Amino acid sequence: MIKEGLCQICGKPGIMNSCNLCGRLVCSECYNAEKGLCKICVAKFK
Ligand SMILES: [Zn+2]
Ligand SMILES: [Zn+2]
Repeated sequence: MIKEGLCQICGKPGIMNSCNLCGRLVCSECYNAEKGLCKICVAKFK
């Protein structure tokens, strides 16, 4: 399902991805598709 909205990290509008850990909706720039996590969660699990 494609969701459009505002990124909860950078605030840009666009197609959102939901983080598998925190559930934030984030844009593709703030989302790590490989891990399925937002960049904030990726930073926690370095
Ligand atoms: Zn973003
Ligand atoms: Zn997250």
